[in-house]
Amino acid sequence: MTFPMEQYIKDLEYIINIDSGSANIEGNRQIAGFFARKFSEAGFFVETRQAGAGKRPVVIAKTPGAEKFAFYLGGHMDTVFPDGTVKARPFRIADGCAFGPGTVDMKAGALLILYIARELMQTAPEIPLCIVLNSDEELGSPDSAEILRQQASLCRNILIFEGGRKGGKLVNERKGIAKFSIAIHGIASHSGTAPQKGASAVVELAHWIIELDRLKNYHRGTTVNVGLMEGGTALNMVAPYSKAVMEVRYVDPKEFLRVERALDKLAARPYVEGTRAEVSRLSHYPPLVLTEKTRVLMQRLTKYELVYVKAGGTSDANRLADLDIPIIDGCGPMGGFPHSEKEFLTLETVPERFGLFCSIIRDIGKKG
Ligand SMILES: [Zn+2]
Repeated sequence: MTFPMEQYIKDLEYIINIDSGSANIEGNRQIAGFFARKFSEAGFFVETRQAGAGKRPVVIAKTPGAEKFAFYLGGHMDTVFPDGTVKARPFRIADGCAFGPGTVDMKAGALLILYIARELMQTAPEIPLCIVLNSDEELGSPDSAEILRQQASLCRNILIFEGGRKGGKLVNERKGIAKFSIAIHGIASHSGTAPQKGASAVVELAHWIIELDRLKNYHRGTTVNVGLMEGGTALNMVAPYSKAVMEVRYVDPKEFLRVERALDKLAARPYVEGTRAEVSRLSHYPPLVLTEKTRVLMQRLTKYELVYVKAGGTSDANRLADLDIPIIDGCGPMGGFPHSEKEFLTLETVPERFGLFCSIIRDIGKKG
């Protein structure tokens, strides 16, 4: 079939021109309303859940009557942009590209899911689909992750429609990310008259930072970055307090254990006697590991000559990674500069991706 580009652009304009930063729940509800209506008109069973204390909308659309699904098609409706962004730079088209907040990340991909699902409902209704769109992905899906995992566990394959990479490449690996805060408590004392009675939290932290920096291992894909630090109270005082925030990115879960063990060791044996360290893990998203099951799915797709890349950032694929279900991410249309004013979507990649994923889902879905 020919792709209904005009209608797609009209729908895209509608959802782009609603501010839907993760903090704007009303905007996300409006977009959720649009999707719920459209999926329901297309013949899907639709449920809009309210996740967490903020009652963030999560749209779930399923092939009626099915309990297990051939495919999970996932995306998010929220963006990183604050209210007022739409007014400042609304949807526009120029030179074959669409511009506006959240085009490639990832309203175009979320909308593409609707078009694919609608097409398959008409031409291959026997392939059961489960579509999930959340509204807190840009925050790391704190409220919706459990719902996503529940739904995904009912599916045989997972496709996430984040923007495709340059040249149409897909994503089959994403690094895990963990953030830690390190607070050091020292002992204050006059730096001129009684320095020996103090214990400097700043000096202790300096040792930590050098040790932590040694933990990075680019060869194994492990990065360790102490990005922020502060400490001390006055120039003539031995510092009673210091603090740092550190980020770890990794591919191999063993590497993460290595970093955690190093942190424990540092905390157990202070360099500066009298100081005490408190380490807290602020967040942790496990990596999207290229599993045997994902490899098997990739093999079944050999004839499509797909190209895959590893991505540094996380997505909801990370949240689903440990379910041991094959996952391919980056299935959405292509563009560039996500999370920036220059963000764009290349319109001709929309019908391309539509054709590709309709075929893939038909192929794999029919063979079970
Ligand atoms: Zn995204």
